[in-house]
Amino acid sequence: MAYGYADKILHIYLSEGEMEIERPGDAFYRKYVGGSALGLYYLLRHTPPHADPLGPENTLIFALSGLTGAPVSGQSRMTAVAKSPLTNAVGDSQCGGFFPAELKWAGFDALVFHGRAEEPVYLWIKDGQAELRSAEGLWGKPTGEVQAVLREELGDPKLKTLQCGPAGERGVRFASVMADVNRAMGRTGMGAVMGSKGLKAIAVRGTQKPQLADKETLVNLARLGAKRYPTSGIYGTGELGTARVVEYQDMTGGLPTRNWSSGTFEGHMALDGSTMAETILQERDTCYGCVVRCKRVVKVENERWEVDPLYGGPEYETAAAMGSYCGIDDLEAVSRANQLCNMYGMDTISCGATIAWAMDCFQEGILTEADTNGLELRFGNAEAMVEMVEKIAHREGFGDLLAEGSARAAKKVGEDAEDLLAAVKNQEYPAHMPHVKRSLALIYAVNPFGADHESSEHDPTYEGYPEQMAKLGLTDPQPSDVLNEEKVRFALVTQYLHSFHDSINVCNFVFGPSWQLYDVDHLREAVRAVIGWDLSVEDLLEIGERRLNMQRVFNAREGMGREADTLPKKMRKALEGGKTDGVALSPQALERAKDMYYDMAGWDVYSGIPTRGKLASLGLDWAADMLG
Ligand code: SF4
Repeated sequence: MAYGYADKILHIYLSEGEMEIERPGDAFYRKYVGGSALGLYYLLRHTPPHADPLGPENTLIFALSGLTGAPVSGQSRMTAVAKSPLTNAVGDSQCGGFFPAELKWAGFDALVFHGRAEEPVYLWIKDGQAELRSAEGLWGKPTGEVQAVLREELGDPKLKTLQCGPAGERGVRFASVMADVNRAMGRTGMGAVMGSKGLKAIAVRGTQKPQLADKETLVNLARLGAKRYPTSGIYGTGELGTARVVEYQDMTGGLPTRNWSSGTFEGHMALDGSTMAETILQERDTCYGCVVRCKRVVKVENERWEVDPLYGGPEYETAAAMGSYCGIDDLEAVSRANQLCNMYGMDTISCGATIAWAMDCFQEGILTEADTNGLELRFGNAEAMVEMVEKIAHREGFGDLLAEGSARAAKKVGEDAEDLLAAVKNQEYPAHMPHVKRSLALIYAVNPFGADHESSEHDPTYEGYPEQMAKLGLTDPQPSDVLNEEKVRFALVTQYLHSFHDSINVCNFVFGPSWQLYDVDHLREAVRAVIGWDLSVEDLLEIGERRLNMQRVFNAREGMGREADTLPKKMRKALEGGKTDGVALSPQALERAKDMYYDMAGWDVYSGIPTRGKLASLGLDWAADMLG
């Protein structure tokens, strides 16, 4: 058996209140590695096609990898996989923090939840022992309180928690799973799946660190990371947080503003990481073992807002979604909204973007105060934005409609409202503009779980880091604003790499080619030192490709193929102001890029579905059989 793994997958049958440990063995881990790929294996096998994502037939998997919990930067991450209640397609989301490492030290590689508990429960795991307990008294409580109660009840102030939050209990379709109360598996509504299973929380404590294949090499790699950090590309993010890119995005015309009507926001500096550092920042936080410390802790205490440092601070995505998307230049309001999302368990991107869409409808007269319970939901109204976050979490009044996500809400409001959507497969856009980074237009469209910014490298990497790109076989750098054949190749190959990252569960900031703390060869070295596998770059890409193909198979079973890979109408409308004034996306260019992409991926170009030959070449005959 490889090092790094516990060779233990815990299956929890919630309907029966029973548990079982599976030991899948070395060959299984070599093929499916962990995280997203491993989760997909169980999702495909245990969730039947067309299952209700909020019903007992859905399977919810939390998966680590062999690297998780090792003493090196960027490894304490985990993936949640289930059918998504937001997209009705495959759901997939990652988080960092301390919970992933703790779960590994408690002796499990993955948790697979089947069925639904009759009464609310939580799972308590300690050093290889697992027990389901009643969560009756915890139901309805916010994440911070639940964590405090569990630490008290179980008598361990160091235990780590994973929770669905009250929003997940109420089936908010973009509910997140919260780790350590300030790290979110935010995308695709995994918190709503957790809540639908009656699973309020997982508490974990572990003290058994796995043995390393080559301790000396790993120690040297960790030292190298610490040494490189001050001169690396990730340094600015470590010091100022991810929100340090607000200014840069605005400069390039790539800061989504007023529901994607513009790429520039006059109030952008109020949201920038440098402003946060000068005003409300209390301290920097980190994930287990990481020298970068990019996480923020903020505090606000005044007549208007209170922000508790327990819930961390806003990332770039949050600063944009709650800020520029909504035309709001108030960092304290954004931080308050961030706290509410973490308290109740909601994805800040989808939540902010859905409010921005509603604001756009309000400005256009499609929605009125009669719809919004008297709230003047205009761009720039910070109080209204924060109030809407509360109402969504509680599914109260107009918040009940927005809790469905912008796409479902638009269907109810009418066709004019649908024209204002910025979402793919019902998932709201993250804050990186395909108008500036053209390969993202393709990736947003084709990504199996909807628009996502962490599923591939962004365009500037190709020209900016040619040596790193060459290691992936990408040797013909292209400018950001083209979407030609070579750019499509860049999109696909880096999508494979990111698929590997989400399976071995490493942080893209630490191991991604554009941030340069570690490169792809260091990642191979880390795998060798911790797990003992000697993987080539081609091996990494093939594992990533396998994961992507399994995702496409899942969607194909749901009847989703090429026609679902599309961008919303709004993207055809020219942006206003700044460097991207007048820029719109061409649907014809996207269709051409899709042809090239499916062809390169070895999929059927007409349907966008993997061919049997492609699946067989990846050892996925069993998945091909599911397509008939
Ligand atoms: S770079 Fe930031 S998000 Fe990534 S592991 Fe380090 S602290 Fe966590």
